[in-house]
Amino acid sequence: MTIRSATDRPSHYAAAHDTAPIAAVRADAYKIPTDAPEADGTFAWTPTTLVVVEIEAGGCTGLGYTYTDASVVPLIRETLAEVLLHEQVSRIAALTQRLWHKVRNIGRSGLCANAISALDFALWDLNATLLGVPLVQLLGGVLRERVPIYGSGGFTSYSDAQLRDQLAHWVDVDGCTAVKMKVGSDPARDPSRVKAARRAIGDAALFVDANGALTVNGALQCAERFAEYGVAWFEEPVSSDDLDGMRRVRNAAPAIMDIAAGEYAYNSDDFRRMLQAQAVDVLQADATRCGGVTGFMQASQICDAWHMPLSAHCAPALHRHLAAAAPRLRHIEWFHDHVRIESMLFDGAPKPNRGTIAPDLSRPGCGLEFKRADAEPFAL
Ligand SMILES: [Mg+2]
Repeated sequence: MTIRSATDRPSHYAAAHDTAPIAAVRADAYKIPTDAPEADGTFAWTPTTLVVVEIEAGGCTGLGYTYTDASVVPLIRETLAEVLLHEQVSRIAALTQRLWHKVRNIGRSGLCANAISALDFALWDLNATLLGVPLVQLLGGVLRERVPIYGSGGFTSYSDAQLRDQLAHWVDVDGCTAVKMKVGSDPARDPSRVKAARRAIGDAALFVDANGALTVNGALQCAERFAEYGVAWFEEPVSSDDLDGMRRVRNAAPAIMDIAAGEYAYNSDDFRRMLQAQAVDVLQADATRCGGVTGFMQASQICDAWHMPLSAHCAPALHRHLAAAAPRLRHIEWFHDHVRIESMLFDGAPKPNRGTIAPDLSRPGCGLEFKRADAEPFAL
């Protein structure tokens, strides 16, 4: 059965929750075409692949997902599912630890981390669903009722008109107070693109993301030009693998500009190294990559210890509950590609209201239901 509201939970569910064995683990991949060609400073794409994970126990289903390659599906089905099957669903910490141990010899970052992230999220969603409470309640409860979002897209493949229309929509219609555009594929053209964006969004904060496309000196030259248009955030000016380069850009960039990175952090070691290197002003974390709910909340604790702002990267529907409970959270990235997919394929996907989204506290778990029939045309 599916429990649809946090109030219609039969009383035996909480009692049965502790011992409910995991009965099934499913993973499926879907390739969804973008609505226009998308590109950033170092990559271009026309479809996006979504991997959806479902875990069953006690008659309920937990949902998790990650945007990654379809090759994580056989990894989950053939290698990771057996770690979870027949185990007690409430033992999230033990099960997640076993998943990480299972991938020790094949490399825990990248695809393995994406797979474990989706499984971890599904475990948390399933536990909250079995208990009949919204996910945020298992994370310490609501710290903020609504979470700011910033519109994100502005792809380098867009014409200036497409760029202006998209950014202006987020400000004028969705009420965003900040928007982000891609830069770095053609640095000579970027100042005119940034100027066009500034004209379209008025006084809203303007963020740029180079996806690691630039050198340190190239990034600093761009930063000076971008500062003329009040750019307040420069994401991955150089590769975030180059922590020393990130720190050099951060030390020399105009003070109005936050340097941000963290979307390729797959575990708490990656976050710690980034902060120890003093590479960023704001740490980004992505629960679909860094270990699901467990990994994101670890990142949140690390940020707290470092007095560092935290920003959730992409997958906004999935980050809502986590963001509502994370002390230093600044905002969630309202990424065009994922917003479109989540509104198409998940019942309960958030809608922006005055530049914010909120967890749905009337639904148990993460409040999302996968629309499998709608996704079927995209199945791989
Ligand atoms: Mg980015």
